[in-house]
Amino acid sequence: MYRKIFNAVFLTAFFSAVATAVIIKATSDADFSLRDVVAVLAVIIVSAVVSAVIAGKILRPVVEADPDNPKINYSELNPLIEKIRRQKGTISRKNNEVRTSHEQLSLITENMNEGIIIADHRTNILSCNSSAVHLLGARKISIGQSIYCLNNSENFRRCIQNAMGGRNSKCILRTHNGDREIIASPSNLTDTVNGIVVFIFDVTEKQQLETMRREFTSNVSHELKTPLTTVYGISDMLANGMVKPEDVKKFGGNIRSEAERLITLINDIVSLSKLDEDSIPHENSEVDIYEVAEEVVKRLEQSAEEKNITVCLSGEHISVNGNRTVIDEIICNLCDNAIKYGKENGTAEIKISCTATKAVITVSDNGIGIPHEHINRIFERFYRVDKSHSRKIKGTGLGLSIVKHGVMYHNGTVRAESNVGKGSVFTVELPTDI
Ligand code: ADP
Repeated sequence: MYRKIFNAVFLTAFFSAVATAVIIKATSDADFSLRDVVAVLAVIIVSAVVSAVIAGKILRPVVEADPDNPKINYSELNPLIEKIRRQKGTISRKNNEVRTSHEQLSLITENMNEGIIIADHRTNILSCNSSAVHLLGARKISIGQSIYCLNNSENFRRCIQNAMGGRNSKCILRTHNGDREIIASPSNLTDTVNGIVVFIFDVTEKQQLETMRREFTSNVSHELKTPLTTVYGISDMLANGMVKPEDVKKFGGNIRSEAERLITLINDIVSLSKLDEDSIPHENSEVDIYEVAEEVVKRLEQSAEEKNITVCLSGEHISVNGNRTVIDEIICNLCDNAIKYGKENGTAEIKISCTATKAVITVSDNGIGIPHEHINRIFERFYRVDKSHSRKIKGTGLGLSIVKHGVMYHNGTVRAESNVGKGSVFTVELPTDI
């Protein structure tokens, strides 16, 4: 623009000067002299300087105008300025809309427990919520960094690369904070992948449950197979006449004892799965714990007598709002263990007491005790401290799991303290009103 104004002013001045000179010369008789040439050169220079100054002056208000609020005293430019003003308004409105929707999106994703990352076609992060950073156990990252700054493991890389290749992809990551499920999906605005969206879920609990389920199934199959193999073996021998008549009773006894073991196991599995599935309706009634304990002691009288163990029940009639069958199972399993793992001629004590809000059931024995390193594991399914003595002492390894789940059903707690060779104490606390 500057050059155009300059050229216009300069050429006008120059041609006016030249035309004036030519007219003067034409009306006089003198020839062109050196002085005339110098005069023409001087006119050119003066025209150039004047043109530069004029062009600068004309343009200064335009150049120096405030872009946010253009005010130029050239009425010819008014339509243009008005247009610029309108466009500026539109841009700022659009900017506000984009900012608001970006803020809303950030607010929503920031409040999500799941991680979400959006990355461009070069795997650079466009958006990433704090849950994603936290779940991947990464340090804070900035927009524009590579997605691999969040996690650089082979599984993660493969998952992201698959999505970049246009395929939906899934993987499980084991981080020091737990297990994470990664789901990466390509985003195709055109024929090519323009970016990816990655979701991150905390699946630690799900994975643990899956492992427990697998272990449980394998343990159940093993525990069912052992007695069934014995039953099959003995009955096969009996069917083939391989057992002497005087041994038939003994072998029959073995079959019965294995069948009993199977029945106990199946009953325990049924009790546990009922508690597990939460299929026991929470239709509670007032249960006198002392009364339940009395019934249990009566039921276990014979097994206590076999080991000459004295069972003492003491305490008060405390009632809780709970499920009688489940409370019976809790006390029965603990007392049964106190007798099973108690010493010959020993004692098993059941005490019912209470605090301001809880009923307390304490079952103690002076039996073999539990080594310190096993205490935290005895409530796991099928866990037995000593597999060799557990063969002699009948059991399924499910009793304390039933206790734990029964206590959880009542929102209570259970803990065990034990000394090897001296005995064990199990304490159950149940809220009196659940
Ligand atoms: P089990 O059917 O084998 O008794 P439990 O789940 O009731 O299974 O108990 C798990 C394990 O905890 C037992 O195998 C035993 O090793 C240990 N245990 C439980 N109660 C006692 C106790 N009172 N004294 C010693 N060990 C115990």
